[in-house]
Formats: sequence, structure tokens, C-alpha cells
Amino acid sequence: MRLGKAPRAEETGAFVQCQNCRKTLFRKEFEEALLVCPSCGHHHRLSGMGRIDATFDPDSFHEIDRELSSLDPLEFPEYREKLEGAMKKTGMNDPIVSGTAQLEGILVSVAVSDFSFMGGSMGSVAGEKITRTLERAASGGMPAIIFCATGGARMQEGLLSLMQMAKTTAAVQRCREAGVPFICIFTDPTMAGVLASYASVADVIIAEPKALVGFAGARVSKQAQVVKAPDDFQTAEFVLKSGMIDRIVPRREMRSTLARLVRMLGGGMT
Ligand SMILES: [Zn+2]
Repeated sequence: MRLGKAPRAEETGAFVQCQNCRKTLFRKEFEEALLVCPSCGHHHRLSGMGRIDATFDPDSFHEIDRELSSLDPLEFPEYREKLEGAMKKTGMNDPIVSGTAQLEGILVSVAVSDFSFMGGSMGSVAGEKITRTLERAASGGMPAIIFCATGGARMQEGLLSLMQMAKTTAAVQRCREAGVPFICIFTDPTMAGVLASYASVADVIIAEPKALVGFAGARVSKQAQVVKAPDDFQTAEFVLKSGMIDRIVPRREMRSTLARLVRMLGGGMT
């Protein structure tokens, strides 16, 4: 299973250290638990392919649009270098991995964001891949499932990046008109321009435990607050209480929960 780089630091061979409780864990056990700490339950970030392996039927993923990669339309300082660095580091062309996969035998249109590629930011390529994922669902009569892990829109592409918010949201409407369900999963973090566009208008919204969910980052929101926000502000648990999401689902239950949902909502072809 390609779970991706688990905890950044203190990795030594057979052991890893939990980023939250700092306990030393057996790597094998940790990977079998899909990078969830068996001691404190902290959900570490998965890579895009790791998420696909952890969620969908083995060997059922068919990647589409892998070749799409961002240009530098505004000639933004250092953007090209950052892009090339991210490509080299991750072996990907963009944070979004998209295609089709099977979920307990049901064919679904999927997109997964990988935070390790420029913070999962949505530029024109990410927006296009999300749009195509939703359009494939609509035209193929498949449920759409999208996992978010993002800091928001990609500032180096300016307005072209912000335009993706409208484009992806319009694509959700196409799913609605075709009568196919769209399920969105907020993983840590789901922020800003992505939260404020297609992600928030899904038919069903699920979050992983303790995922950071919000519009502005913590520092900016603190400066803008007139009254003090609760301590758990911008967590999955807080936004569940306020009705913004439907459910929090631990990673080990994600596959069966999604499969149940797509069957209930009239999911797709096999
Ligand atoms: Zn832990």
C-alpha cells in the first residue's frame, strides 16, 4: 500500500513517532492502521495514492488526466521553481489525483488531493481536474467522491485560480441535474477557496476526526474576531455542531461508510 510519507521527523526504520502524542510506534502496525495512531487516534496525512489505496477496491483505480500540469500564466516570482520542486518531491504534476475506481464493486468518479504538493492548493489544473471528475460522474451516471486536503486557492495563479471556485461549483450543479450523488470528505486541512466552493455544496459532507476546517487561517481569523472564538473553532467537531457537515467518520470506517452511502443514494454502474 502506498500510504505516503508518514510522520516527517524521527523516522527510523521499523519505528515512527506520532506527531500528536509523540509515542513511538511500530511502523508496520501504524501503516496497517492507515496512519492513524493506535495510541491517541491522531489521523496523519495520507498521500493522494495512499488515500486511494486505503479507500477503494484493490487495483480498481484508473487514473485520468495525470499529464495535466500548471503553466505560469502570470510569471509570478519563483512560481516555476516551486512547481518544479513539488513535482520532483512528489512525482506528481498536480496535487489532484483523479480518475475512476470501484467501491465495493460500485464504479465511482474520484478525485483526491495530496497536501504534500504545494499544500494541495487549487490552481487552474486542480480546478480543471475537479471539474472533469464531476462532469465524468454526471455524464457516466456515477457517484462522485472527492477527498479534500488543501490550504485553498493557489495565489501564484491569481484570478485564474479564484475562477476555479465558480467553475467547480457549476460542475456540482451538473451532477445534481444528472441525479448523481456527490460526496465530499474534508481531511486535514480543508480551507479557504476550496471550502468556499465545490466542497461545501456536496450532497453529503463527511470529515475525518480533528480535521482543520475553515475559511481564513487561524492567525487571520484571530485578528478579525470581535468576540473570542471557542477553543475548538475550525475543527471538524466544531463544524459538525454548527451543522456545516453531516458526519465525522474515522479512517478505518471510511470505505464501508462511503459504500453504504453510494448504495443508499442510488450509486452507479458496476
Ligand atoms: Zn498518537
